[in-house]
Amino acid sequence: MNPYIEQLDGLDRRLSAIGFCESLVFWDAATLAPKNSVKNRGLALEEMAELYYTIFITDETKELLTNLERTKDSLPELTRVKYQFFKEMFEQIACIPVNEYAAFSNLKTQSSAAWEEAKKTKDFSIFEPFLQQVIDFQRKYIRYRNLGGHPYNTLLQDYERGLTVEVADTFFEQLKEVIVPLLKRISEKNMTIPSPFTDVKFDIEGQKAFSDKILDKMNFNKDSGIIAESVHPFTLNLNRDDVRITTAYQEDYALSSIYSTIHECGHGLYEQNIGEELGFSKIATGTTMGIHESQSRIYENNIGRSEAFWNSYYHLLKEQFPEQLKETNALDCFRASNDVKASLIRTEADELTYSLHIMIRYELEKAIFEGALEAKDLPAAWDAKYEEYLGLSPADDSEGILQDVHWSEGLFGYFPSYALGSAYACQFEAAMNREFGFYEAVAADNLGRINEWLKENIHRYGSTKTPAEIIEGATGESFNPSYFTDYLVNKYSKLYALT
Ligand code: ZN
Repeated sequence: MNPYIEQLDGLDRRLSAIGFCESLVFWDAATLAPKNSVKNRGLALEEMAELYYTIFITDETKELLTNLERTKDSLPELTRVKYQFFKEMFEQIACIPVNEYAAFSNLKTQSSAAWEEAKKTKDFSIFEPFLQQVIDFQRKYIRYRNLGGHPYNTLLQDYERGLTVEVADTFFEQLKEVIVPLLKRISEKNMTIPSPFTDVKFDIEGQKAFSDKILDKMNFNKDSGIIAESVHPFTLNLNRDDVRITTAYQEDYALSSIYSTIHECGHGLYEQNIGEELGFSKIATGTTMGIHESQSRIYENNIGRSEAFWNSYYHLLKEQFPEQLKETNALDCFRASNDVKASLIRTEADELTYSLHIMIRYELEKAIFEGALEAKDLPAAWDAKYEEYLGLSPADDSEGILQDVHWSEGLFGYFPSYALGSAYACQFEAAMNREFGFYEAVAADNLGRINEWLKENIHRYGSTKTPAEIIEGATGESFNPSYFTDYLVNKYSKLYALT
């Protein structure tokens, strides 16, 4: 046997083990850890980042990669893919000096804490110096990577392999051309959609019970996953046998927790269905953020916000809340979950205006890395973009620039994957429809059929394929955003009786 295979697997196991521990620290920070834990957690994570770096970025690894390259043709398929993956990972990290790599880990911990405080007190000035340092680090990283082309490309590709400013510009332009006039026509209708979820309290215990039932309907494996609560819902993918999702319950807005649970469960299913043969490995996880988001969004939007979904599962909600839902029906819930309104908060936005929130962030990030904006300029730039796209101005920074956690954690380049995910989801839905009735499966309470297709065509591959390969393999064609824009036009023309 080629000795380099074993060497690569050993390195993979060690790096996966450190990643596992770092993820658990992150889980603890987001769910249970006390406020004052920040300082020492930052130090601990800095040491762990240094450990990760010193194990990975060595002459020995460099030699191993050279040997794997040399013997590439005789390697088993899985090792060849793993080699490619590790080579890219090595290039991403090796260009950064070790002290800067470790210090950035600590900076992210401190900056997240500052962001939280700033958001709570609605005071951007608390966060501003940290945000500037995070931006400075990213700019330095772009120079170190030295990939050429638009500077923002370097960051985009860390979240969505193959994505460039040129591709993203075209994509967003196509969305804008459809969404902006559609939104205008809907606004002109001036329709009021009555909602069973406003002005009524849904007790948290009942919401938890409903969440639990939905997880079962979605086939979430509770022996290999748990659900907890956190301020910002997220999914932690330790490995296929240990998937942790969170949701956030609000007594006066039950729809929010319902869709958070469904969304995160969509991410969770992806991780639980990763092929067992990939083992305890860096490649045994979702391939990119865009594909990951397509899995959460196909459940949250295509399924969860469909009439078929409410026809199938309304009775479960009614069982839990007979008093609150006394005078409503499935159709009311369907309509309420698709009420289109320009709004300030991304995570609460409807499916149509959601992409506009992403476009705003994309344009700001692009400007930051073109050197046109600094941290201090961002609140005003943010407000101007909201005025331009949604006709609204935030009353304060907590409902403006401070609403998202991403920048505090250095996640620049991440946002576009949300909009891409929605678009991929529609292309997957269309592909399923060619094989079986997608909405018929939802109406027949058979989400298992959809889960099976996603597992077969997407989930099981983990990170062994690129987004382009996944899309091509699952749908028989390359990425085509028209599936998304057609879906939006069809859905909202019906809902709002547009002619
Ligand atoms: Zn998500």
